[in-house]
Amino acid sequence: MKVHEYQAKALLAEHGIPIPQGRAASTPDEARRIAADIDGPVVVKAQVYAGGRGKAGGIRLTESAADAEKAASDLIGSRLVTPQTGSDGAPVSKVLVEEASDVTRELYLSILVDSASHLPLMIASEAGGVEIEEVAQSSPERIFRCTIDPAIGFQPFQGRRLAYGMGLTGGQVREATQLMKSLYRLFLDKDCSLAEINPLGVTTGGDLLAIDAKMNFDDSALYRHKDIQELQDKEQEDPLEVQARDWGISSYVKMEGDIGCMVNGAGLAMAVNDLIQYCGGRAANFLDIGTLNNPDRVVNSFKMFLADPSVRAVLVNIFGGMARVDVIAQGIVDAFRQMDIPFPVVVRLAGTNLDEGQRILTHSGIRFIEATDFYDGAQKAVQAAKGVTG
Ligand code: GDP
Ligand code: MN
Repeated sequence: MKVHEYQAKALLAEHGIPIPQGRAASTPDEARRIAADIDGPVVVKAQVYAGGRGKAGGIRLTESAADAEKAASDLIGSRLVTPQTGSDGAPVSKVLVEEASDVTRELYLSILVDSASHLPLMIASEAGGVEIEEVAQSSPERIFRCTIDPAIGFQPFQGRRLAYGMGLTGGQVREATQLMKSLYRLFLDKDCSLAEINPLGVTTGGDLLAIDAKMNFDDSALYRHKDIQELQDKEQEDPLEVQARDWGISSYVKMEGDIGCMVNGAGLAMAVNDLIQYCGGRAANFLDIGTLNNPDRVVNSFKMFLADPSVRAVLVNIFGGMARVDVIAQGIVDAFRQMDIPFPVVVRLAGTNLDEGQRILTHSGIRFIEATDFYDGAQKAVQAAKGVTG
C-alpha cells in the first residue's frame, strides 16, 4: 500500500525527521489560506501515488498566496501524467502547500527490502533529485548501499559511511546518522517496504530537510497498522485492482495487454505473462488465484475479465497441487452458467484430480479451447486474442 507525500511526511515528523512547514489542501481557497499563513514563497505539490511530478508540472513554486491559489486551482481536479503513471495519469484531489525551502544540495536517502540479501537495505547518494534514476544507470559509483542486520540494528559506522558517501562533513555527519537511525526505526515500526526521501535537502544553514517523501507498506502486515490502513486513497488505485480486492482476489495487477490470465501460484503467473509475451501477445493482467477450496474465486476471476474492456481472450493455466483441478473446473463451468462470456477461453489443466476436472469440463458442454500443455496454451491464447480461431 502507498500513501501520499503529505502523509509520509507526517510520519517522518513523528519520528523526529525535519520537514518543511505546510499542510494539505483540497480546494484552491484552502491552499490560499495555508500560503498566507506561511507568509513567503510556497511550493504547491500535486498529491498522487506516483513520483516524477516535478518533471510533469505537478510541483509549482509560487511567490504569493494568490499565485498559490491559482496553482492549486490548476492542479486540483486535473489528472497528472508522469513517467510513473499510465498514459491517462492519476487524479489530483489534494495539493500540499509548503514553505519553499532554500536548499543548496539535493541528496538521496532510502530504505527498502532487498530481495537478494533478504535484509533492509539503506541507499544514499549525493546526487539526489529528479535525475536519480539516470544517475543510478550512468554512474552507479555515486550510489552507496548498506544492508542492515535486524538483529543488530542500524550501526553508527554505517551512518558515517553513507554520510561521507553523500559528501557531508563535520556536524552534518552526526545529524545525518541520527536521521538515518530515525528513518530505520520508522521503517521497522510501520512495516514499510520502502521509505524514501528524495530529495533530502541541505539548507543554506547546513541542516538536513526532507523535501519529498515516499512510503510503501507491506500489505501482509497492514492488519497490525490500522492507522496506516485508514490513509488509503482508493481513488489513486487502478479501479480494477480495487474491485479485485473487494472480490477476494488479492493478487491481481492490471497490465496493458488483451489476454486475461487466471493462474495458480505467483511464480507460474509470472511465467505465463512471460510466455504470452514470448508468443507475441500481451497479458491484460497478472492474477494468482492462490490455493482455494471453493469455486467462487474462479467465478470472480471471470467477473474481473468481464469488467476489463481490454480483454479479448482468456488463458486459464492451472497446475493443481494444493489447489484441486476439479474445483477449478467446476468454477469455470459455474462462470459460464452465470455469465455470458463473450471471449474465447483457453484452458490448460494439470495436476491433482486432473481426470475429474477434465470430465467436469467436457460433460458441461461449455465452449472452451483445450490446451495440451503450457506452451500450447500460451500460443492458442495469443491466436485467440488476435481473432484467429484454431
Ligand atoms: P517528484 O518529482 O515527484 O519526486 O517531486 P519532488 O517533491 O521531489 O520535487 C521535484 C523537485 O522539485 C525537487 O527535486 C526539487 O528540486 C524541487 N522542489 C520541490 N520542493 C521544493 C522546495 O521546497 N524548495 C526547492 N528549492 N525545491 C523544491
Ligand atoms: Mn522526489
